[in-house]
Amino acid sequence: MKPFEGKVAIVTGAARGIGRAIAERLARDGADVVICDLQAEWLAETAGAVQAMGRKALPLAVDVGDGESVAACVAETIRVFGRVDVMVNNAGITKDTLLVRMTDEAWDDVLRVNLKGTFLFTRAVAKPMMKQRGGAIVNIASVSGILGTPGQANYAASKAGVIALTKSTANELAARGVRANAVAPGFISSRMTDALSDDVRNQYLSRIPLGRFGTAEDIADAVAFLASGQSSYLTGQVLHVNGGMVM
Ligand code: NAD
Repeated sequence: MKPFEGKVAIVTGAARGIGRAIAERLARDGADVVICDLQAEWLAETAGAVQAMGRKALPLAVDVGDGESVAACVAETIRVFGRVDVMVNNAGITKDTLLVRMTDEAWDDVLRVNLKGTFLFTRAVAKPMMKQRGGAIVNIASVSGILGTPGQANYAASKAGVIALTKSTANELAARGVRANAVAPGFISSRMTDALSDDVRNQYLSRIPLGRFGTAEDIADAVAFLASGQSSYLTGQVLHVNGGMVM
């Protein structure tokens, strides 16, 4: 039997990149997946991939920073599937610039999506998960939230906040059988890393003991572990998936 057979997962920011890889991985392991992104039509490829694995996909337009939109998504999940077992808070944005040049808007936008979005979904799934007396919440943080990367004061603060939120969630929900953990990716291959010059690329790579950028699938593997029964004695933890960049 597959680890997520009969389980229902919600994945935010599932239209592309890491979120899409997570949705596909959970579906491959047997989950039906509610895939969320800003516009439902962006989710067609992810939905197709989930369905190709014989699982149900429910694509929903959701702005994770908007409480009503988040509540509607969780209500629709319960209406259609009757339960929610796994919540993956993956949607995230960057608006990088040096601190002295950072506008209030750049600060607010990043905190709204990365941190408030994670809070809103966690709050919305907490009740149904506690009622079920089981569930796993996996939040996507970042190595930036550990290191405080220059040029990313807003992003680093949001991801450090996600880690603290994960620990409070874990403490509050443990007695009801609900676990909360975070994955902190390092440099993951993306359109952004593909566009780097050889010099900059090699500079980054020299800081990674395993000598390569991570893949979206590396992150999906870590999420699948933390969402599954294989990690049933883990809560409030941060799994660092960064090729050894930070130890
Ligand atoms: P991406 O930009 O490729 O994908 C993010 C997705 O989130 C997009 O589909 C976007 O439309 C969606 N999204 C943005 N704002 C949203 C909102 N308000 N509501 C709903 N959806 C929204 O990013 P990615 O590289 O796949 O990153 C995914 C997560 O991993 C993010 O939380 C990011 O901070 C984190 N992360 C990425 C890296 C990396 O190297 N790529 C490293 C560390 C952490």
